[in-house]
Amino acid sequence: MHSDSSGLSALVNDCYQCGKCTAGCPLAAQMDIVPSQLVRLAQAGQVERATRAESIWLCVSCQTCTTRCPQSVDVAGVIDALREQSAQDGTVAKTQRRTAIFQQVFLDNIRRHGRLNELELVGAFKTQAFLKDLSIPLLMKDALLAPQMMKRDKLHFAGKPARDRQVVDRIFAKCAEAKV
Ligand code: SF4
Ligand code: SF4
Repeated sequence: MHSDSSGLSALVNDCYQCGKCTAGCPLAAQMDIVPSQLVRLAQAGQVERATRAESIWLCVSCQTCTTRCPQSVDVAGVIDALREQSAQDGTVAKTQRRTAIFQQVFLDNIRRHGRLNELELVGAFKTQAFLKDLSIPLLMKDALLAPQMMKRDKLHFAGKPARDRQVVDRIFAKCAEAKV
């Protein structure tokens, strides 16, 4: 996915603002700027405004918008690119900073281990979010849940090794290639 603004314009050229993407989006009612409006902003060259939207971090990448589009615009892909641009430019909406941090540490974790190492994920997220907000309650939040989760085998001290690490490496390499 191209994340520069010229790449984005090319992706959204064919949109004629029918609104089908927004009509099918399960999160549209919670969004400050709905999918068809994000596409319109990208068309109009107002990418920075789109990268400041809260909605790009609410999107759950369900792909409904992309599959409904009569013009084959990859709306979900456009939103992915807006998230990347937003993180890169430091324009993440204040209310969504923790979401952006979580997504980043999650991806770093998978890239490093091939599968999720839960304790490392929690540690990295809490540390980075704390450094951003200096919020002690955030640092301590959920700590009491850890023993329960371990008892139910939902949280592990050591991460389990990935079965086929090379597959994950190839996925990350392909994504990096697609960005060039
Ligand atoms: S469904 Fe496609 S053509 Fe219609 S508004 Fe969304 S992106 Fe544009
Ligand atoms: S991919 Fe995102 S924007 Fe598209 S329908 Fe799903 S939640 Fe909405």
